Amino acid sequence: MGPTKGGIRYAVDVDLGETTALAMWMTWKCSIMNLPFGGAKGGVRVDSPSLSRSEKQRITRRYISEIMDVIGPDRDIPAPDLGTSAEVMAWIMDTYSHQQGHSVPGIVTGKPIEVGGSHGRAEATGRGVITCAIEACRRSAFELAGSSVVVQGFGEVGAAAARLADGMGARIVGLSDVSGGIFDPNGLELSVVDQWVAEHGTLEGFPHCDRVSNAELLELPCDLLVPAAVQGQIDEHNAEKLQCRVLVEGANGPTDLRADEILGQRGVVVVPDILANAGGVTCSYFEWVQNNQHFYWTEDEVNARLEPILRTAYAEVSATGRAKKLDHRTAAFVIAVREVGKATVLRGI
Ligand code: NAD
Repeated sequence: MGPTKGGIRYAVDVDLGETTALAMWMTWKCSIMNLPFGGAKGGVRVDSPSLSRSEKQRITRRYISEIMDVIGPDRDIPAPDLGTSAEVMAWIMDTYSHQQGHSVPGIVTGKPIEVGGSHGRAEATGRGVITCAIEACRRSAFELAGSSVVVQGFGEVGAAAARLADGMGARIVGLSDVSGGIFDPNGLELSVVDQWVAEHGTLEGFPHCDRVSNAELLELPCDLLVPAAVQGQIDEHNAEKLQCRVLVEGANGPTDLRADEILGQRGVVVVPDILANAGGVTCSYFEWVQNNQHFYWTEDEVNARLEPILRTAYAEVSATGRAKKLDHRTAAFVIAVREVGKATVLRGI
């Protein structure tokens, strides 16, 4: 459907199968959002949190040198994923530009704003999650404002989703990161949590709340559950125990097929990853357009373009689901595969 697009993951257990699956998801995600991109993904098997800044930079520069021939602003445009950051994107942009002999900001998205990044990109995935959550809650006959929310993962996606939900009047009752979870049925004071994480780099040791494990966190009573950490969190063993009414997948692949079936039978509305977290790639598309045009938008302009695209995609998935009597995930795949299929046939492949 265009140049390929997807994040680069630095994780100790990333492998070719996972990377291939993530690339496939990107294909469907771009298709469902009607973006002129195909799917891609990259991975480096390293223990990202244990690397020094300098080690991370050297690994990034060497990795980009190795894949120089397969990336390009009209060919394959990387972005951040687990274990990589805006700073890593700046190093990628610099390494590629150095080889080309001129600055090429459109080689990568999710960059810092100072080197051609887009306003709104850092929170775009979380914004997409919450836009989908608002729609899903409404269709389940309740409003996000005033409802209780649990978010697993307090990184780029989870923290932005929690802040936006909190700003809209939802009660954030549970949060977690890799160190475990925190829980307060009366609602956590998010600005205090933010301050703690800024000072300590982790939720570990956060006072004035109950501690839960990541597994327990998923089973807390809440209206909305947002898994926004890693894949494979909800399976047949815990799907029966989840107490949420709506589940919006911030992470890629947090729910497995059997769990999906169980949640469907129990009437839990699941908004699938390829729709729920597509705000990130949509804003990456905006960043690439701005880089190519050398014409930059304000944050308000970015958000004003992002939200209608997400709402339209949600409405289309929901309508297809109703018409064909399918859950959201299957309906999303029906649309995504159909559009890629049409393009393939039209191109005579
Ligand atoms: P991140 O590295 O910024 O944050 C990840 C968070 O999850 C951290 O708080 C980390 O401590 C926590 N975590 C890690 N391992 C965990 C575990 N085993 N159990 C519980 N928590 C754990 O990453 P991110 O960019 O927020 O990405 C989170 C998920 O969202 C990933 O699945 C990623 O593929 C997906 N995603 C991200 C974007 C994006 O724009 N960043 C876009 C689409 C999808």
